[in-house]
Amino acid sequence: MTRVHAYAAPREAAPLEKTVIERRELGPHDVLIDIAYAGICHSDIHTVQGDWGPQQYPLAPGHEIAGTVAAVGSEVTAHAVGDRVGVGCMVDSCGACDSCLRGQEQFCAEGAVFTYGSTDRDGTVTQGGYSEQVVVTESFVVRIPDALPLDAAAPLLCAGITTYSPLRHWKVGPGTRVAVVGLGGLGHMGVQIAHALGAHVTVLSQTLSKKDDGLRLGADDYRATGDPATFRELRGSFDVILNTVSAVVDLRAYLGLLATGGTMVCVGAPGEPLALNVGSLIGGNKTIAGSNIGGIRETQEMLDFCAEHGIAAEIEVIPASAINDAYDRVLASDVRYRFVIDAKTFGA
Ligand code: NAP
Ligand code: ZN
Repeated sequence: MTRVHAYAAPREAAPLEKTVIERRELGPHDVLIDIAYAGICHSDIHTVQGDWGPQQYPLAPGHEIAGTVAAVGSEVTAHAVGDRVGVGCMVDSCGACDSCLRGQEQFCAEGAVFTYGSTDRDGTVTQGGYSEQVVVTESFVVRIPDALPLDAAAPLLCAGITTYSPLRHWKVGPGTRVAVVGLGGLGHMGVQIAHALGAHVTVLSQTLSKKDDGLRLGADDYRATGDPATFRELRGSFDVILNTVSAVVDLRAYLGLLATGGTMVCVGAPGEPLALNVGSLIGGNKTIAGSNIGGIRETQEMLDFCAEHGIAAEIEVIPASAINDAYDRVLASDVRYRFVIDAKTFGA
């Protein structure tokens, strides 16, 4: 066992505090990673606030991990000491079921082992990336291309793949009219990726306060959802709506923005249900869909795509002591556009 500094919530809805957690000894297929940066995803906040149900505490969140390989187990072939690597939302799965073989480990029939708050193979509860080091089985470690700085790459491990995967699945490309709802961590990645895929991109944000940023990130249009005229003027004008909002939204209003045959993909995951009147779908052969992160192969593909297109997260690097303040700012939609924790400060 190695003991490392970390930040964890001691109980539900409590501020995170400095602590020490244990990492297992390296098994033959394990990789020990010196964490350099860990992104703060809104899912970390939902989890420790209890929005998604009870958790086991203390709980160190963090599933946007970037760092370098410090040691490898005797049979590791995919990674070597010194490699720049990332770990996202999952750290293990059965590897043999249909979902795993398809490259969708998140839907593993035996249950994927998620990066934190999940029961691991050895019966322990996983602890996430708000820590100095992590041990992960080699097949769940991805390569971070040299073109991507580690700090700005960290958020790609969740925000990047969670937007890339549905945009690819729904065949977004040249000629597709895409709306991205919410310009936060996921939204600002969705805008950049949809633009790089060649789509016409509109941001739908609560206000116009981040319009300049949205246009700079690649949006062609930027509208305020607080203005009822937006829903009149853009009626029937999108093929795909990517909803990244962390709170409940009015589905009827957004489904009205879809063209006939269009799809609204929800990745935002509020704790409360969204109300759906099926008439909103029937009147236009529309689809409402969900999407859950993305598999490991696709995560590597996304990282390579981002490197090739010069895409990364816009970040504010913070010390671990500022995590609780950062949570408050995320909850107030005051994030531009991802907080990333400098892992050197976990032990400070
Ligand atoms: P975030 O950085 O907080 O961004 C969410 C954005 O939603 C905000 O910036 C804000 O954008 C908008 N918003 C927030 N509250 C709102 C409200 N009451 N009404 C309307 N708009 C509101 O969060 P994130 O890290 O991107 O995560 C977004 C959601 O995706 C969370 O629920 C998270 O758990 C979920 N998630 C899902 C997956 C998955 O696999 N499906 C993966 C990761 C995260 P504007 O200021 O532009 O309006
Ligand atoms: Zn996340």
